[in-house]
Amino acid sequence: MSNYNNSLEYARQKDAQDPLRKFRDEFEFPTFTENEVIYFTGNSLGLMPKRTREYINRELNDWAKWGVEGHFDAERPWFAYHEFLTEKAAKVVGAKNSEVVITHSLTTNLHLLLVSFYRPTRQRFKILCEKKAFPSDQYALESQVKFHGFTPEEAIIEVGPRDGEHLIREEDILKAIEDNADSLATIMIGGVNYYTGQLFDMEKITAAGHKVGAIVGFDLAHAAGNIKLQLHDWKVDFAAWCSYKYLNSSPGGVSGMFVHEKHEFEPELPRFAGWWGYDKETRFQMKPGFVPMKGAEGWQLSNAPVLGMAAHLASLEIFDEAGMDNLCAKRDDLTAYLEFIINDISERNDKANFEIITPKDKNQRGAQLSILAHGQGKQLFDNISKEGVVADWREPNVIRIAPAPLYNSYEDVYRFGQALEKGLE
Ligand SMILES: *Cc1c(COP(=O)(O)O)cnc(C)c1O
Repeated sequence: MSNYNNSLEYARQKDAQDPLRKFRDEFEFPTFTENEVIYFTGNSLGLMPKRTREYINRELNDWAKWGVEGHFDAERPWFAYHEFLTEKAAKVVGAKNSEVVITHSLTTNLHLLLVSFYRPTRQRFKILCEKKAFPSDQYALESQVKFHGFTPEEAIIEVGPRDGEHLIREEDILKAIEDNADSLATIMIGGVNYYTGQLFDMEKITAAGHKVGAIVGFDLAHAAGNIKLQLHDWKVDFAAWCSYKYLNSSPGGVSGMFVHEKHEFEPELPRFAGWWGYDKETRFQMKPGFVPMKGAEGWQLSNAPVLGMAAHLASLEIFDEAGMDNLCAKRDDLTAYLEFIINDISERNDKANFEIITPKDKNQRGAQLSILAHGQGKQLFDNISKEGVVADWREPNVIRIAPAPLYNSYEDVYRFGQALEKGLE
């Protein structure tokens, strides 16, 4: 039994006790809604930190002042701009600095990593992923498999929920790994499923994969900035994430890449190369023959897109100030409060029949709840949108909502409940 209470007074009291409450004021809240916004789509595009303007403006001003000389003479020289992001990003994903680089976009990075870490042979050629993975990941895997001369049917193993269930059982993933022990080359799963919000035990999956001789990587689009990650300690081989969901770093913003240090002394590892992955000391001698940098930086192709990185820097500083442990503690409580409110309405209101398909166990989820609205259609979603709720609708009747602990409040959650009840009328 929880001690939560579905009242404004209670929600405000919780906010007053919230050690992270001051961070709400760091963000711009959308103004397009008729009623005051309740922004629950930080899992799709995080809100803009107020300081982002200042960070981008600094680079624009330096560009205006220095032109090309800004590569070395800007306040934060562009030549090595990604280095300003490394330490803070590494903290967010639980990695050593040398294991992380911020560069390119997410799907690009997935491909670059798969080029190195999906090396199928006649014997070992399969890649394991979750069923209904994010479409971009599906296309990436399908094209990688074909690129190596295999068909998706023979090479891709998808593990899905059992009939009548919504979540994927961990035992089924482990069994699929066992069943394909001799033919499995690589595992590539979304650490948090974008649709159900299910968090997978990455440490366990990594160990199981390694036990059969497979390489293990994760797409952390819905995990970075949401889940406490320990990529280094979990011995994950590779990972990539985007910075514009929970990490609030501008639409289409730069992505992160992780390569475990056990691979850093493998210059012969096949990869698609570009000049920014070339050994920094001798890069500008522009000699033929690619010599990769050690560590994750050796996977960079291009010079830094500084404006997007300035936005990422602004946001990473806020994460550094707030701390992942504090964020995770608030995330669990705020999400549990949201769960309580939804269930409370479902119990009291005859018109409501909500089923939360996201795991109940806080160790198997992050900030997102996916609600199956039985007997309700798009009308309900349109109604709550009119009340100021910004959420995500998936046909035929799933509402995905994500209270981001950095800027969402307990009052937001209470008001969401009010909007939901009103929307049922
Ligand atoms: C958001 C998301 C993407 C988006 O990829 P981009 O290359 O940034 O457009 C890819 N995969 C997953 C799992 C996502 O959640």
